[in-house]
Amino acid sequence: MKEGWNELKELFESKRSFEEDFELENGRYISHCLGCDKDFVGHECRNMCKLCSEERLKQLRENERIAADMEKQSLIKEEFYGLSSGDIVEHVSGGGLYVITADLGKHKLCSETIDIYNPLEWRLISKQSITIS
Ligand SMILES: [Zn+2]
Repeated sequence: MKEGWNELKELFESKRSFEEDFELENGRYISHCLGCDKDFVGHECRNMCKLCSEERLKQLRENERIAADMEKQSLIKEEFYGLSSGDIVEHVSGGGLYVITADLGKHKLCSETIDIYNPLEWRLISKQSITIS
């Protein structure tokens, strides 16, 4: 009996438990965390312990920050519609570089670029002529 009491006391004092819920109606439920698979005490509606909830919240905030950064880097509609053949764009999340090959108005065709450096691996198929006036 004494041993069980100590386990319960440890559970209530655990960093995984929500002390702020204890005074609420149904705030002292022993639940099983969906994140770490350990028991904690808190409101009956909670399904994650305090540590996992805080970690999850940190991840959500980081995802929001990344989304906001991507939005800052991305083109506005007018800039996108103004892209034309030869322009080079970078996907904000994937990072790949693409050369616009055709302007279809609201849609663009593009081809992915790759880094090449060894002349022995390549042969010429056609060469674009450049006229300098
Ligand atoms: Zn947990």
